[in-house]
Amino acid sequence: MVESTESESRKLLGRLREAMAGENPGQARLDKITHLIADSIGTEVCSVYLFRDDDTLELCATEGLNVESVHQTRMRVGEGLVGRVAKFGKVVNTPDAPNAKGFRYMPETGEERFSSFLGIPIQRLGEMLGVLVVQSKEAREFSADAVYALEVVAMVIAEMTELGAFVGEGAALSPLHQQPVLLPGTAAQEGAAEGHVWLHEPRVVVTNPIADDPERELVRLNEAVEQLRVGVDKMLEISQNGDKEQLQVLEAYRMFANSKGWMRRMEEDISRGLSAEAAVEKEQSQARARMSQVQDSYLRERLSDLDDLSNRLLRILTGQGAETGAELPDDPILVARNIGPAELLEYGRNLKGIILEEGSVGSHAAIVARALAIPLVVNTKRITNEALNGDHIMVDGEQGVVHLRPDDSVVSAFRDKIAMLAQAQERYVSIRDKPAVTLDGQKIDLVMNAGLMADLPSLEGSGAEGVGLFRTELQFLVRNQMPKRQELVELYKRVLDAAHGKRVVFRTLDIGSDKVLPYMKPNDEPNPALGWRAIRVGLDKPGVMRMQLQALMRAANGRPLTVMFPFVAQAEEFRAAREEVNKTLERERILGHVLPETLEIGAMLETPSLAFAPQKFFDEVDFLSIGGNDLKQFFFAADRENERVRKRYDTLNVSFLSFIEQIVGRCETSGTPLSFCGEDAGRPIEAACLAAMGMRTLSMRPASIGPVKSLLTRIDLNDLRSVISESRNQGDQSVRTAVMRYLREI
Ligand code: PEP
Ligand code: MG
Repeated sequence: MVESTESESRKLLGRLREAMAGENPGQARLDKITHLIADSIGTEVCSVYLFRDDDTLELCATEGLNVESVHQTRMRVGEGLVGRVAKFGKVVNTPDAPNAKGFRYMPETGEERFSSFLGIPIQRLGEMLGVLVVQSKEAREFSADAVYALEVVAMVIAEMTELGAFVGEGAALSPLHQQPVLLPGTAAQEGAAEGHVWLHEPRVVVTNPIADDPERELVRLNEAVEQLRVGVDKMLEISQNGDKEQLQVLEAYRMFANSKGWMRRMEEDISRGLSAEAAVEKEQSQARARMSQVQDSYLRERLSDLDDLSNRLLRILTGQGAETGAELPDDPILVARNIGPAELLEYGRNLKGIILEEGSVGSHAAIVARALAIPLVVNTKRITNEALNGDHIMVDGEQGVVHLRPDDSVVSAFRDKIAMLAQAQERYVSIRDKPAVTLDGQKIDLVMNAGLMADLPSLEGSGAEGVGLFRTELQFLVRNQMPKRQELVELYKRVLDAAHGKRVVFRTLDIGSDKVLPYMKPNDEPNPALGWRAIRVGLDKPGVMRMQLQALMRAANGRPLTVMFPFVAQAEEFRAAREEVNKTLERERILGHVLPETLEIGAMLETPSLAFAPQKFFDEVDFLSIGGNDLKQFFFAADRENERVRKRYDTLNVSFLSFIEQIVGRCETSGTPLSFCGEDAGRPIEAACLAAMGMRTLSMRPASIGPVKSLLTRIDLNDLRSVISESRNQGDQSVRTAVMRYLREI
């Protein structure tokens, strides 16, 4: 076999490029490629297997194996040596293939005549596209040099695949990024929307993987890396006094940016004929493949730092990236790996839908999406790899699925669904001004959650009887600097004006956990959900809290005012906060401002501890509101942002419902008004069960009021309560099945 020197590699890539440049159809190109590789490497066989669907590989071209087996021979991922390469994304190199672990005999190919086997993954940025195989009769292990040369070739094939080089008439495979795809995810905000993909972080497209002039490419790479290093040093300088974690990341960036190994590998890729950007991407692909194998979270983070750095380098080299100058398409549907609440608020209501590859139903980004009433699907695997900017896309926030590049039948069925949902909303309008009274005569107060000025018209439109939770932090999150007191006064005044005397519960600033203000130094905390957040920040650094209380009092300007403190874990915290209110009130009086007509001060019950507070606390507090999102996460010790654990625990789990019942009981004893303002209040079945447990005020996003009211008016709480008790007595873990059975019969 001819040993593959750098100049051999370059020559091969040059020939590959010529093969690509012709007018040949996709299949002919791929045939030519296998021929060229076998010829250049000096093996009898060269084959390319590409993915036909998620777990089937198909022999798409071969030099040396039986040609009849092309497009006939298929294997599953993990099956045979080829399947193993695809499964683990790792090279298999063996002198004695028929006796190697996992070998599968495929008589139609005639491959049993060949002893040596070298399989190389064809992958692009962590996405497995296929396997490149060379085989020879002579029993020998391929040299490291040959492996390297073929990795470079595999990289070029991956880029060509991405660019659609093997598709079209006489196609070797179905085109990428052109087929309709249905991607399952998790519904996080209902509604259905049709629009066009807008990638939050557009991917870089490498259009020239092969380069003729390695010298020039080396200069380009070195210049880009230099620019990258300067950029990282600058970032480090700026954050010298900043957050420790951020510094660690930047230090890791610097380490990689100066890493000799990384540079050497990319230089070698270039000397073998790759362009500078293709060399960066080859290293990035391999790092991503490693990332999927590594269990250690620290190492994974470092690999992801390297991934980030590679992206920066690619943007420098190609001039592509976030600032591509592209314009938001019509009806934009945002596609992102993940997104924070502040970034999402920046897009605001421009978006028709949101699809996240990761994300979670319980995150604050999801809450923002709900506040904006934008359909959201989270946990949508592969979406950022599959979708291209501008692709036609449909989001089904009811079923939690995404139709990317849908075909005509899906489009028309989906449009029917959108029309049906709109009709359902219209039906709710007819009950808008009716009270939510159950068949047994219980009146349930339905109030709404808000946080954005844009929510206010919903107070009229939804039939809400007031605002049960005004999340004041959203106004802090949308800005890039701390709002001034007078700005807050104006804002709260507008909220109260829009409420026309209906009660508005202002929750004081609830920051920390995943709500990080862009202009506040983030804290280096191992577990932010259990960390310095909400009232804990307010009491330790009371400046902002005082300013907010003052702004609220001035906005009320003689009207009634209701204030609620978030995340109170023990009575003392509430007392200290109330003390702040009293001091502020006194100061306002001295300054001659008009004081609120009445002042109600409540607390959010978001940690189980508060449910067991001394009776005195229940007597003191003006009202309580259960923050079910946080309460549930702490009750089950299951992170609300972690889909894997969040989904394990049903809100209708008997332990949780019994806990709610107990809280209701304590509040009844002390006569403390109680409401529930977590997301579950807006889910009709959950809302009905909460009402059956004794909750009489439910606060939810405006769009849920219609569906919740519609169900409540059709049920008898005594009956539902009996169903729940019976299910509980039978030892069910969740009462959902029994409740669903009952609801189907009403
Ligand atoms: C809750 O925890 O249920 C709640 C309403 O507060 P947030 O979701 O803003 O944390
Ligand atoms: Mg909360």
